[in-house]
Amino acid sequence: MDDLNTILKSAESNEDFRDLLEKLRWAEGFKCPRCEGSRCTRIKSRGLLQCCSCRKQVSPTSGTFLHGVRNLRAWVKAILSFRQEEGQSAVAYALLLDRSYATTWFMLHKIRMVLGANLINFINQSEKVWEVPCSLLKSALFKASSEGEGEGEGEGEGEDTPPRQVKTLLNREMMRKACYFIAYLLGVFNGVSRKYSQLYAFEYCLREASIDLEPIDLVACFVRGSPSFRRSIFQFFSPYLLVL
Ligand SMILES: [Zn+2]
Repeated sequence: MDDLNTILKSAESNEDFRDLLEKLRWAEGFKCPRCEGSRCTRIKSRGLLQCCSCRKQVSPTSGTFLHGVRNLRAWVKAILSFRQEEGQSAVAYALLLDRSYATTWFMLHKIRMVLGANLINFINQSEKVWEVPCSLLKSALFKASSEGEGEGEGEGEGEDTPPRQVKTLLNREMMRKACYFIAYLLGVFNGVSRKYSQLYAFEYCLREASIDLEPIDLVACFVRGSPSFRRSIFQFFSPYLLVL
């Protein structure tokens, strides 16, 4: 992975990033997603590879999380920013990337979802993963959060209500972890709702674990998986017990 890290460092244009993602995705050599053929030709003008067996044309990102993304540079930069100790708001990204707030808001949430799915690979095995009840985070979440706290009435069908009999052992270590996370949530520009609190918990854990994380390993998660759509963000709802 060493030379890929070097390539990543010097990558500037979208083409550079596409080349990098190609090397990352097919590190063992090309494999056609349709027929698993290993021979291909390059269609230079379109940045595509064509399978010699079934003639399917594929780009390094097709069928992956980054499917259809044109501005690869912006996405990879945003992904890598999750390694930094301090996060940036969607507003800051919107200015930085010259995109609308809505676009960058979705982009960051989609990245958080992928990071969440891969978090287990990044966290030091000796680190404990806690399940923290949402109720502990009340002070940091939107007060008038329409998603509710899971108490009282008016919870919509299908929402995640806390099982009343759940007894979570609140020990000192967990409380300390929750307090740090609350401080982190309070720093999020525009605030955090209960609905998306788990996504911020993923982000928080990743930033904590990032010290030893190679940039290329982080980017590698995004050439796997499947395309991500906005509706997956709309449909997301944090569990009552957040993984932290
Ligand atoms: Zn093929």
